[in-house]
Amino acid sequence: MFIHQIPSFIPAFFPHFTWSKAADRQVYLTFDDGPTPEITDFVLECLDEFGAKATFFCIGKNVVDNPSIIQRIQTAGHSIGNHTMNHSNAWKMDYTSYKEDIKQCEEVFVQQKINSIGFRPPYGRITRKMYRGMNNVILWSVLTGDYNESLSPENILQSVLPLLKPGAIVVMHDSFKAYPRLKVILPAILAHCKEQNLVLSAL
Ligand SMILES: [Zn+2]
Repeated sequence: MFIHQIPSFIPAFFPHFTWSKAADRQVYLTFDDGPTPEITDFVLECLDEFGAKATFFCIGKNVVDNPSIIQRIQTAGHSIGNHTMNHSNAWKMDYTSYKEDIKQCEEVFVQQKINSIGFRPPYGRITRKMYRGMNNVILWSVLTGDYNESLSPENILQSVLPLLKPGAIVVMHDSFKAYPRLKVILPAILAHCKEQNLVLSAL
């Protein structure tokens, strides 16, 4: 069974990372792994239709390839965070190389005048060393699993809609892999939040 809600013991191990936020009516939608031509544009159109703001954790090399999409994200008033240069896996490389990959992404952000709001490790993979050495790491409380081909959009919605509560940080992906599910769940999540008077905000 796919676990959409992060069990509370995990944040308890890593309390200085951000997993959710104290909020009145705000829910924080986040999109990882872009910018991706057409897919990110679809996300931006959906958000715009609902007057929603969100956060994009971008891969540095995709930023280099798609500067006009980055521009569009920024003009629309969404936030952007660092998701490494090459979508690196913290469990499969040494800490020095991993930090170098984060730095490369940061440098791309500086070149493109992007103000990063924080770092999200790909796959949510964290090591003890990382935990001691890094600040401003933003994870999530609700994992839609939109990248998982064995989940149907209907099943995702059934599990995820009840988890959309004030303060939730929700992760989706503006990637080709997630798109078959994203294209269904995103409009439904936006409509649900509107109905519940939840305010979709950027981090
Ligand atoms: Zn990712």
